[in-house]
Amino acid sequence: MIAVKNLHKYFGKLEILKGIDLEVKKGEVVVVIGPSGSGKSTLLRCLNLLEQPTSGEIAFEGHSITTKKHDINVTREKMGMVFQQFNLFPHKTVLQNIMLAPLKVKKQQHSEAEKIAVELLRTVGLEDKKDVYPAQLSGGQKQRIAIARALAMQPHVMLFDEPTSALDPEMVGEVLEVMKKLAEAGMTMVIVTHEMGFAREVGDRILFMDDGVIVEQGTPTEVFGSPKHVRTKDFLSKVL
Ligand code: ADP
Ligand code: MG
Repeated sequence: MIAVKNLHKYFGKLEILKGIDLEVKKGEVVVVIGPSGSGKSTLLRCLNLLEQPTSGEIAFEGHSITTKKHDINVTREKMGMVFQQFNLFPHKTVLQNIMLAPLKVKKQQHSEAEKIAVELLRTVGLEDKKDVYPAQLSGGQKQRIAIARALAMQPHVMLFDEPTSALDPEMVGEVLEVMKKLAEAGMTMVIVTHEMGFAREVGDRILFMDDGVIVEQGTPTEVFGSPKHVRTKDFLSKVL
């Protein structure tokens, strides 16, 4: 579904991604771990071209998205993204937040968009919140709405950038639970997280990034159970 070849990203003279090769298969859950500043967010943002790669190639569903003639918007519709900060529209209700992009971008009929939004609210367990405003929601509820909003575009892959890092500890579980359900339903997902228990349980593959490179990757058992690289061992010894 996604194939990244020799991706480099510079910010000014600083090389942030130093040659990333990565493949994500349909239905796969890839979890990216690694220290702060290692380039995890930059990698995720390059995948949906929120950042322009400096060099290298990214293909999505068999088509290069890094060629000039590619229409970025077509790809973005098929890649849902959830951020640490929920970025909900404060002056719109929960239902309006979820329906906005399907109405504006997908030109869905109002009744169709509403039906899908209500179903998604049920999926994230918040059907009773459809008419409230984001300010009336807890952090965990906001993030579940942000996930529903991304899903409303019926994306083929979901990218998560530390979706639980801004939450109070007691709200982390409810968001991870929604993500786990998505994974079980077969959604293709790339997840940056510091939740190692979740990574181990839900990830099909773990990537450990440090200093702009993928240092090591493998199944959760391989990476958590017997890390090969000294940098992986060092990182895991600090977070586990
Ligand atoms: P991570 O998500 O692993 O913490 P990031 O991808 O956010 O890492 O950042 C990697 C490095 O790139 C950091 O040193 C950060 O300061 C730098 N960086 C990220 N975004 C920008 C930007 N827009 N301009 C300049 N430097 C950036
Ligand atoms: Mg980050």
